[in-house]
Amino acid sequence: MALDDTLWFTENPTADGSTLSLKVTGKLHEEQTDFQKIEVYGTEGFGNLMVIDGYIMLTARDNYLYHEMMAHPVLFTHPNPKRVLIIGGGDCGTLREVLRHPDLEQVQQVDIDAGVTRASEKFFPELCESNNDARAELHFTDGIKWVKDAAPGSYDVIIVDSTDPVGPAIGLFSEPFFRDCHRALGENGIIVQQSESPLLNMQILTDMHQAMRDAGYADVQTLHFPQPVYPSGWWTCTMAAKHAFKGFRIEDSVCKSFPTRYYSAEVHQGALALPPFMKEAFGKIK
Ligand code: SAM
Repeated sequence: MALDDTLWFTENPTADGSTLSLKVTGKLHEEQTDFQKIEVYGTEGFGNLMVIDGYIMLTARDNYLYHEMMAHPVLFTHPNPKRVLIIGGGDCGTLREVLRHPDLEQVQQVDIDAGVTRASEKFFPELCESNNDARAELHFTDGIKWVKDAAPGSYDVIIVDSTDPVGPAIGLFSEPFFRDCHRALGENGIIVQQSESPLLNMQILTDMHQAMRDAGYADVQTLHFPQPVYPSGWWTCTMAAKHAFKGFRIEDSVCKSFPTRYYSAEVHQGALALPPFMKEAFGKIK
């Protein structure tokens, strides 16, 4: 049964032949930037929807799941984060979550495409509410070059909130990039990267673990969580650290001074509990 594409947005199908459709109320924006095609739709049940090159980026209804899990686990794992770099993240949802941490001193966001942030300011203003925080800096350039040029030890945490490993983002999943991040991170530095679906993309996940190990990180941990509008509805982020992980600051997480809708210390603990097929796959990586 073909859906009427005047009433439904349907994402580019995955290699496995799966896709997702959302019933739309209208197209609000379309722009071809120097880097990608950005579209925004109104939807019946998920609020506004952002699409880049035919792939769903976020909806107003469920983006909190992803943005909270890209920001809070890594920040409560680092012993005392002060300086954060976000690569990508142009919708500013991750930036908003990061800035909820009162002890941070500087958060730089580097997205290659200013068009994404301009569209988010217009159609997802709630995600951009912290953009004027005195600690925040928004830069629009290639994150790969930014990290390559960064002075050693510049950051405590690097968050890579990128599109899938295609187009301008492909280099963000490579060993040379992870090596450059390793150099740009301080003594207790941690990188976290969105790492796709455990059901559909285990090869991307195992390749990422291997590339992070080869780039010199002492330890790598994947966390999993629901993300309904991403392929399979089951998503991950992967952290890599210069020193072996020793749990996370549970007390600080439990006593956090800000509200979250999905993240909690218990959810954090649970997200680290991997199913056997993932543990087995990661266990083979040296
Ligand atoms: N949560 C989304 C996902 O998982 O697909 C990603 C959100 S965010 C919109 C992805 C961002 O990565 C885009 O704004 C895109 O411009 C940015 N991006 C892609 N390649 C980049 C690069 N080399 N340097 C900086 N930003 C990049």
